[in-house]
Amino acid sequence: MRIGGNARYYAEIASENDVEEAWRKAQELHVPLIVLGGGSNTVFADGTVNALVARIGAGDVKIEGDTVIVEAGKNLAMLLNELAENGLDLSALTGIPGMVGGAVFGNAGQGPNGVWMDTFVQSVTVFVEGKWKTFSREDCEFSYRGSVFKEMKGAPIIWRATLRVPRRPAKEVQADIERLLRKRMETQPHRKTAGSCFKAVGKTPAWQLIDRANLKGEKFGGIQVSEKHANFLLNTGEATFCDVERAIREIRTAVVEPLDVEMRLYSQDGSTTGNAECAQ
Ligand SMILES: Cc1cc2nc3c(=O)[nH]c(=O)nc-3n(C[C@H](O)[C@H](O)[C@H](O)COP(=O)(O)OP(=O)(O)OC[C@H]3O[C@@H](n4cnc5c(N)ncnc54)[C@H](O)[C@@H]3O)c2cc1C
Repeated sequence: MRIGGNARYYAEIASENDVEEAWRKAQELHVPLIVLGGGSNTVFADGTVNALVARIGAGDVKIEGDTVIVEAGKNLAMLLNELAENGLDLSALTGIPGMVGGAVFGNAGQGPNGVWMDTFVQSVTVFVEGKWKTFSREDCEFSYRGSVFKEMKGAPIIWRATLRVPRRPAKEVQADIERLLRKRMETQPHRKTAGSCFKAVGKTPAWQLIDRANLKGEKFGGIQVSEKHANFLLNTGEATFCDVERAIREIRTAVVEPLDVEMRLYSQDGSTTGNAECAQ
């Protein structure tokens, strides 16, 4: 979204050793560890965020039949295309920016009735509370835009996922990816946004509720509710973190139904500002 300041500490994670070291360093420095994938669903506070921000860069992929073992730093769109060339079909996840780790963390996918990342996940290797653990699909407790990792205290570091991906002729998968990408371009903005701001309420998409409240195109400082898709907040140029918080607050006041925030907002102290703070 191009909002936010600097991290007090920053690390690029390329190996399992780096994961362990970043976790140890955050403990030593007494600062929160914030794990970052592509940053496409994340907004940081302005100024200095007092945390160690660790970006996962490792993105190796191994294909064994219909089993795909992929490191968390793999770009999801690139993975889709590479698998399509091999006749493996992840096309349902077309158009979702970011990395595999971020997609597992937030169970990325379509709306409440759609296909989500968990459809494909068999297991996930995570560094949590100083130990390596493998979570089965059931252990991951996936739900609509949710997983056990999102609820954990401390910062679990998703390192690798094992996926089972259905086979389909490469040409068909590639045609679907192109079709779905075209549809996205027509219906959603894709620049200076962090994607959907709010979760659906039951089966009703949040954009419909925001649209009904006549907020399409509404501005809150440097933030504008997209005219194309009312659940996308756009940075019109000079938006601040406070503008994002204000937009969230005012939209939630204007919409009668209770809206839960989907994007991740990080305050200057490195904590996630969830619904409680946004509701003030
Ligand atoms: C134009 C646009 C369209 C979008 N469309 C969709 C959509 O259709 N469906 C959808 O679900 N989302 C969508 N999104 C939101 C976003 O792309 C997804 O949520 C994506 O999966 C986030 O991945 P990321 O790597 O960018 O995560 P980040 O933004 O980097 O991180 C998101 C959260 O995941 C955590 N995290 C990331 N990587 C790891 C890791 N390895 N270990 C532990 N925690 C981690 C972070 O700490 C953070 O809390 C869209 C966003 C944009 C900008």
